[in-house]
Amino acid sequence: MNLILLGPPGAGKGTQAKRLEQQHGLTQVSTGDMLRAEVKSGSEVGLQAKAIMERGDLVPDAIIIAMLAAQVSRPDATKGFILDGFPRTVPQAEALDLMLAEKGVPLDHVIELRVRDEEMVARISGRYSCAKCGEGWHDQFKQPKHTGVCDACGGTEFTRRADDRAETVAARLAAYHRQTAPLLPYYAARGILRAVDGMAAMDRVYSDIEKIIG
Ligand code: AMP
Repeated sequence: MNLILLGPPGAGKGTQAKRLEQQHGLTQVSTGDMLRAEVKSGSEVGLQAKAIMERGDLVPDAIIIAMLAAQVSRPDATKGFILDGFPRTVPQAEALDLMLAEKGVPLDHVIELRVRDEEMVARISGRYSCAKCGEGWHDQFKQPKHTGVCDACGGTEFTRRADDRAETVAARLAAYHRQTAPLLPYYAARGILRAVDGMAAMDRVYSDIEKIIG
């Protein structure tokens, strides 16, 4: 099964993708995570992407499409993919169609996580993660049981994404509305788009997704 999770930054795509990965053995493909790894490694792609990401703009399609092509041919992803943060533009969606057609695999569901813009700024600007295991935390909504200690691994160092500052979040939301929202009619026309209420509690969002994928 191949799925796309669509929605603005902070809608919970990554959280839901991780859970789907654990429960269904699907492979999460996050272009944001891939880009952050490139930035960290100091690669050429990382150098090109860093400033763009910090401004809250989208990285050029050609870079993203080349990165994704390598993932789609991963031999270990036998059960299928959850695409998290890709596609983000119509040309990316068209490139994905070609890649899947070449492999002879379908795109089964596109699930939109619907959330209000006002909520996004609060959600994103409070989030951070454990530097050791990557578990996600939030200043308001998801605090570790003991302040400063990760419940998942006992780690005591945490990081915040450089693009999660309130100023950048506005640019990221604008990019979503301008460049990514046109994908909603693109997939609706094919009859594979379904929406869930991304404002609901995390467990509720997950069970709504499960109902869609069956
Ligand atoms: P994310 O972790 O999905 O929120 O992505 C973080 C940032 O990486 C975005 O704000 C973009 O700058 C860049 N990015 C991630 N995925 C894509 C994509 N599919 N197309 C263009 N830029 C992307």
